[in-house]
Amino acid sequence: MLSCLLRGGCSPLLCLWALLLPPLVSLHSMNQHGRRSHSAKERPKLLLVSFDGFRWDYIDRVPTLNFHNIIDNGVMVEHVENVYITKTYPNHYSLVTGLYAETHGIVANEMYDPVLNRSFSMETDSVYESRWWEAAVPLWVSIQKAGGRSGAAMWPGSDVKIHGMFPNRYLLYNASVSFETRVERLIEWFSAPNEAAVDFGVLYWEEPDESGHKLGPESPLMDVVIAGIDEKLGFLMNELKKAGLYEKVNLIVTSDHGMTQLSSDKIIELDEYVSRDLYTWVDKSPVVALLPKEGKLDEIYDKLVDVNPNMVVYKKEDIPELFHYQHNVRIMPILIAAKEGWTVMQNRTGPFMRMYSKLI
Ligand SMILES: [Zn+2]
Repeated sequence: MLSCLLRGGCSPLLCLWALLLPPLVSLHSMNQHGRRSHSAKERPKLLLVSFDGFRWDYIDRVPTLNFHNIIDNGVMVEHVENVYITKTYPNHYSLVTGLYAETHGIVANEMYDPVLNRSFSMETDSVYESRWWEAAVPLWVSIQKAGGRSGAAMWPGSDVKIHGMFPNRYLLYNASVSFETRVERLIEWFSAPNEAAVDFGVLYWEEPDESGHKLGPESPLMDVVIAGIDEKLGFLMNELKKAGLYEKVNLIVTSDHGMTQLSSDKIIELDEYVSRDLYTWVDKSPVVALLPKEGKLDEIYDKLVDVNPNMVVYKKEDIPELFHYQHNVRIMPILIAAKEGWTVMQNRTGPFMRMYSKLI
């Protein structure tokens, strides 16, 4: 579904910029019976924006006047720690539910649920199956149940019926829809007359993640990409001003994870150590999820646990508690975490290496 090709090597830190324009974000405009106690005009409004894979240090790589304009007029937090694992779907669902992945149930971009006996992939229509999402309640559903209205432009999960609801206004995911079009739709929804106006909006953009995966975050070519993101932010601010929304809409700009440079010299090939006949490969590096064939868990673990110092192999029950990544049937019995800068794959003939060889 999303066009991110490789999830490998995301760093554990990301950065968040927030511009909080008065009035502060609050749901106090809903009364105790969950009904609207203020007119749509008076209710506080919030737009949450995510630039996928915007690494913490990108903001200082090139002049980013629009980001700095927001920081100067609002607030910037020093850092935000993403949830484990550092992938797009789990983190975007955490941002709108406040929950760790093990609790909200979107534990990876690629998942297998042994109870449902179904697989989930962000590359297939499985993302539209409500049951994957319904362990949690995203903000747009909470707001609508409280009497508010919401609008969504491509945020992961926002075009899925969850607990019987879509956002009041939303776009079906389509990577070819430009950032500018997404912004224009949101501006329309926030500007709609009276009770038709949305109170909460979410906006997702695939960059700089997509270019970061293709070029590597350390590439000098990323400078142009980062400057382009700053221009997009400038476009959003201008559109808010033109529509008279700048003083009315609270804005949070954030990201889902960082990114680290990988190398074709830092590849771990599982085929060297264990036969792929013993397991099903469920999710890919940097945190690989393996589903062992019946009775093969200990054999796989024993073959992998000490063979390479650049990966950490966990049985599910041994995953550290601080990761909050254990208590869900969709978390597989064996997890392999690549150390920073390393990639775990079955062998070098996989899609990662085909892509990598095109770039070097
Ligand atoms: Zn992402």
